[in-house]
Amino acid sequence: MAIKIWQPIKICYCHHVGENVSLEAELIYPAEWLPDQNPRIIGHRCSRGMECSLAGKVSCLWAGTNPTVDPFS
Ligand code: SF4
Repeated sequence: MAIKIWQPIKICYCHHVGENVSLEAELIYPAEWLPDQNPRIIGHRCSRGMECSLAGKVSCLWAGTNPTVDPFS
């Protein structure tokens, strides 16, 4: 059976929340009977993105409130 997980791929300090946050990739690892296949990346998110998007303030691309700011770039 395939396994789907969120895995941190980059960490940076975010001035908006005043702490380190991680950029995470959603990976699907293949079933054990397909061991030579690489995991597939199906999405990205910030570890605090949900909280920022609900805060009601303009923050960044990963919160969906300001596409011109990407703290991980
Ligand atoms: S969503 Fe954007 S503003 Fe919020 S913690 Fe992540 S990088 Fe910082």
